[in-house]
Amino acid sequence: MIDQVLPGIYRIEIPLPNNPLKATNSWLIRGEKRNLLVDTGFNTAVSREAMDKGLQELGVKMENTDLFITHLHSDHSGLVQYLAVPGTNVWMSEDDGQVVEASRDSSHWSMFNGFLIVSGLVDSGMENDFTKHPGYKYASEVYEDFTLVNEGFEIGAGDYHFRCVATPGHTPGHMCLYDRDKKLLLSGDHILGKITPNITAWNFATDVLGQYLQSLEKIAQLEIDTVLPGHRYIITDCQGRIEELRKHHRARLENVMDIIGSATMNTTQVASRMRWDLSYKKWEEFPWGQKLFATGEAMSHLYHLTVEGELVMTFSEGIACFSKK
Ligand SMILES: [Zn+2]
Repeated sequence: MIDQVLPGIYRIEIPLPNNPLKATNSWLIRGEKRNLLVDTGFNTAVSREAMDKGLQELGVKMENTDLFITHLHSDHSGLVQYLAVPGTNVWMSEDDGQVVEASRDSSHWSMFNGFLIVSGLVDSGMENDFTKHPGYKYASEVYEDFTLVNEGFEIGAGDYHFRCVATPGHTPGHMCLYDRDKKLLLSGDHILGKITPNITAWNFATDVLGQYLQSLEKIAQLEIDTVLPGHRYIITDCQGRIEELRKHHRARLENVMDIIGSATMNTTQVASRMRWDLSYKKWEEFPWGQKLFATGEAMSHLYHLTVEGELVMTFSEGIACFSKK
């Protein structure tokens, strides 16, 4: 499905079958010389077909189109290798570029095995097999030619003039594109309508939730009339949505404190007691990937509370356990 959302900006909806996100919004900005395509969808036959059809309907050729990838996740970067032709600029942040580089080495994926242990997932009976991870299954085939950019890098297309804004949290190098004159933000997965972006900690290197909340404050300082997000619908009340996202995480943090109460719990025990906006009735029914992401999200909240001094983290047989201070 294609619709023109602003003069010269089109949405190509790329379906994500069997995924709660339903679809990725790929944004095409028509330029006089070169077009700009922002985000791509998974590397699957369904995504490839939707993208081909979309580009064809718009009469867009990759020979004069550049790509901007808001973040490394495969529902945004999956088709890079498929789409890029010689001469295509494929821009992505330096920080996410480093993760992509590392993920070519299978030892990167062993980090997830480490997470499965430290979170208590393996102890609860979950299979320790990272090849089930969607980032592993649906990744773009090896793409070597990213042009890595940082905060402040400028990209023009048609009447639009974008500046890269670093918004770490959802991924270490997540980036939004901002056009100040048009008061327009292409937000990737930093700000979504209805769904709350997954904020996941896979290790204790960074307080990712703290980072995400700071990135929300950064965007709250900008004048924005329209947000074009990576999934679902266009947002016109950016400040209101930012406030809802802040509230969501505050409520989650309180929920985590209540769940722990006077007990000592590991991450899986907390995750299985949290409220999740999914159609499964019981934790046991969650598919492998959803259990993994829910536990990663629980971890980001537990670790944030630890950094803030509300919780204490201890280790028992390689599993991180949390209790109130
Ligand atoms: Zn996404």
